[in-house]
Amino acid sequence: MDRTGAKELLGRLPKAELGFYPTPCYKLERLSGQLGVELYIKRDDFSGISLFGGNKIRKLEYLLGDAKEKGCDIIFTYGATQSNHAMQTVSACRRLGLIPVLYLVAVVKPDEEDIRANLLLDRVMGAEVHIVNIEEGETEQDAEERSFRMAKEHMARLEAQGHHCYEVPMGGASETGSVGFAGGFVELEEQMEAMGVKADYIFHATGTGGTMAGLHAGRKLLGSDTEIISINVSHKEPVYLRKSADLANRTLAVLGARGVEVEPGDLHTDLNYYLPGYEIPNEASSEAIRLLAREEGLLLDPVYSGKAFAGMLDYIRTGQVPAGSTVVFWHTGGATALFAEKEILGDLVRR
Ligand SMILES: *Cc1c(COP(=O)(O)O)cnc(C)c1O
Repeated sequence: MDRTGAKELLGRLPKAELGFYPTPCYKLERLSGQLGVELYIKRDDFSGISLFGGNKIRKLEYLLGDAKEKGCDIIFTYGATQSNHAMQTVSACRRLGLIPVLYLVAVVKPDEEDIRANLLLDRVMGAEVHIVNIEEGETEQDAEERSFRMAKEHMARLEAQGHHCYEVPMGGASETGSVGFAGGFVELEEQMEAMGVKADYIFHATGTGGTMAGLHAGRKLLGSDTEIISINVSHKEPVYLRKSADLANRTLAVLGARGVEVEPGDLHTDLNYYLPGYEIPNEASSEAIRLLAREEGLLLDPVYSGKAFAGMLDYIRTGQVPAGSTVVFWHTGGATALFAEKEILGDLVRR
């Protein structure tokens, strides 16, 4: 399908205008020279609404468009206490006059006397924040599931009072949300073509998989052969590929695209760059953050984009991405984490 056809499908779905699109895309001249590739950056950290945008805004345009169309007034969502997704959901709700309620698992425990980064912004924007601590004997996932149950009960109480609640899944990862990234892929192709280039590779950080699924849906829709390399920021079982491919296919179904399918084998994820764990920094990521900051004046974050950029650097330096390739780094945002707890930041500036 050509871009006009794809845009027609995208245009049929309810959508809230939240961000500033297209987000900028341009060449990083200095790093390109040093690395021996043509390196571009797609600035979804610059998506708006506020200074602290990121990749969740694209998803929220369709999710909250759906919520508005269904007449909902209260939006529930989930994440870690420093969740970028939760903060972006709050700002999107405020712009649309919806009420945001957050259930956040304290993966890193906030200091109530010194609230920082996204959690601070959630509070400034007046979100109703419920912090769910990880109890003795509970895993992070147990606490997450408990937070879903608590929110469900809360929603039932509000519904009984006549409210209409809308649940945005963690990371906005649903077929409705991923439509935003199918649109993002179309947007990138258009920008690259206008610059007279074609992307051989796209690198980005993957967490819930909603961004990856959307990008693959867009890629299939246009029949593109650009390789998408998704750097994991947390541990995932092999079933992640099948689930993400399913999500991409449900996204194509929401769009009403026929005759195209994403196979698990189309997905390329990499678990080699996230250790020691989610929200725990590593040296390669710190090096990547310093490199981009010092060579290009651009800020990455230690949880997502720093690890993805470190992965991309490794692929380029080891020749897994051949010299001379055209590479796009999709900046998904998150730099508020630079102002988060020390545990998240690590020793970024000790050198
Ligand atoms: C949420 C997030 C991601 C991962 O996106 P998913 O769609 O959840 O896979 C990447 N980078 C940043 C900065 C994020 O906040």
